[in-house]
Amino acid sequence: MIDQATINRIVDAAQIVEVVSEFVTLRKRGVNYIGLCPFHNEKTPSFSVSPAKGLCKCFSCGKGGNAVHFIMEHEQLSYYEALKYLAKKYHIEIKERELSTEEKQAQTTRESMFIVNHFACEYFRTVLKKHREGSTIGLAYFRQRGIRDDIIEKFQLGFCTDERDAFANEATAKGYKEEFLLSTGLCYRTEEGKLYDRFWGRVVFPIHTLSGKVVAFGGRIINADNKKQAKYVNSPESGIYHKSNELYGIFFAKQTIVKQDRCFLVEGYTDVIAMHQAGVENVVASSGTSLTTGQIKLIHRFTNHITVLYDGDPAGIKASIRGIDMLLEEGMNVKVVLLPHGDDPDSFARKHHAADFRAYISENEVDFIRFKTKLLLDEAEKDPIKRAELISDMVRSLSVIPDSIVRSVYVKECSQLLHVEEKLLILEIAKQFKKPVAQSGTSKENTPSAPEKPVDHEDSPLLQEGEEFYRYEQLIIQILVRHGEKIMCYMENEEGEKTPISVITYIVNELQQDDLSFHNPLHRRILAEAAGQIHTSGFTAERYFITHSDPDISRLATDLVNDRYQLSKYHFKAQHPLTDEERLHELVPMLTDNFKYAIVKEELKHIRNALQVPETVNNPQKCNALMQRYKELQEIQILMAKRLGDRVILPE
Ligand SMILES: [Zn+2]
Repeated sequence: MIDQATINRIVDAAQIVEVVSEFVTLRKRGVNYIGLCPFHNEKTPSFSVSPAKGLCKCFSCGKGGNAVHFIMEHEQLSYYEALKYLAKKYHIEIKERELSTEEKQAQTTRESMFIVNHFACEYFRTVLKKHREGSTIGLAYFRQRGIRDDIIEKFQLGFCTDERDAFANEATAKGYKEEFLLSTGLCYRTEEGKLYDRFWGRVVFPIHTLSGKVVAFGGRIINADNKKQAKYVNSPESGIYHKSNELYGIFFAKQTIVKQDRCFLVEGYTDVIAMHQAGVENVVASSGTSLTTGQIKLIHRFTNHITVLYDGDPAGIKASIRGIDMLLEEGMNVKVVLLPHGDDPDSFARKHHAADFRAYISENEVDFIRFKTKLLLDEAEKDPIKRAELISDMVRSLSVIPDSIVRSVYVKECSQLLHVEEKLLILEIAKQFKKPVAQSGTSKENTPSAPEKPVDHEDSPLLQEGEEFYRYEQLIIQILVRHGEKIMCYMENEEGEKTPISVITYIVNELQQDDLSFHNPLHRRILAEAAGQIHTSGFTAERYFITHSDPDISRLATDLVNDRYQLSKYHFKAQHPLTDEERLHELVPMLTDNFKYAIVKEELKHIRNALQVPETVNNPQKCNALMQRYKELQEIQILMAKRLGDRVILPE
């Protein structure tokens, strides 16, 4: 954990023009700089850098932010890693937050395990190149499979001789503790109590984390005819290695995945390596395990588009289909490519160059839903029971797609392919939605709804983002981040004493008065923190939230500040070209009043709808209660409308 003071120093030191210039050729234009956007392909520059604000933004794809965000996006680093990157560039010593004793203990254990893995990786590489057995057996094996030396280097491939304990002896002699040799799984104890190498007699593939550290290994036997031994041996799960959260090749693939906005998914180490060698670098492997949610989330950080490559083996395809449903569930766009009969990605890549490879993909890729329907349809043929199974299987796949528009397109297509009425499919999908609800018994909803992520808002479950009130909520948060600490007006008491009121205080009071809160949890956190900080001397909301240690908050704040929109220009027709800052005393009350008005309006609408549902109509008690509330709200609405007079018109 980096402490807040250090974060501030890093953000202050990082010159946006300098940071961006390392990756983008910039030209001066007026007070700003402009260049070709590094995040999408373009011929005319739309990437603008403002040294005054310390911000950059692409006016075409919208990416950008402050120097930290730029590095996060460009280098595909976490917030923490990006800060460390900039600290190094500007020679700022990082003061990390003091860790607790347990944290320290856990950290040293983890670090030691990574250190041992690093040592092992280097050891196996050296053996491959320098040891006689390494080159006659290990290197010969890779060469025979057509793997070039530069690729062997890049993926840090290695070899472990078959002496059983050669690595264990070397590591112990070098002073590496047995504890960590065992906990990383590099070695194990035999029943006789001997310390043996897990990977003896195998070529070794190190598995890298997203940031390039070696987290585990996979070892393959050289002679596949040896039936006594498993073909592959992998590091066991450990304090640092959780198989379900790692993807083979992700470290080497992440930048290309972003650039091409797509990721290829294959099965094995050699598939990834062969594809890299052919020039296709945006590829990862689930390494034999079926795809997990953790792995999917890892890919999803970089792209929305995934293409799964299959060899033609139908059994293998059927086994992996479950994992693909999970990709759909994550809202990813999934395509499938079937390779020519007898080829796997490894052999196919060895025969083709990147251009041919891409051409084959684009000619042969099929949408997953279409692919699955056809695959199962062939199998079901005229067997009615199998057909029924197929339909319910497709319904399951369709029901997990989070986007309702995408879903309805597929429903239409499936109904045609399967010769089933569209209505029937929709009905079946609706049943799927109800299932988890019925189990938990918490939802009051009777209508089938899409499995969208639960709205985190206990106070008014009726409200939905995208409604009018939500736009006001965003404008209030924007003005709060830009001007929160500024004095917008004075309150006078009976003795004539004036108390200054800041934007933050005003907003907090206004919401409290009517027992309202923001809909978006991030907005609620920003308001709560602003209220807590307002009396801290030297506090400025903009700076505080832009350098916030939570990247979600800092990113949102940057976007809000970056947005050049000035409310004043819009609402006060240029008679007085005043800035928002000069008009806070008018703007802020106007926004909060309109926010409230929109919420009241929304609630009235929901009550009107509720009053038409048969369930309510047949329940006089509920009906009366709703009518009562409706009348109250109507009165409030009339009062507010009078006070508002001229209402703020929402920006488009
Ligand atoms: Zn762009």
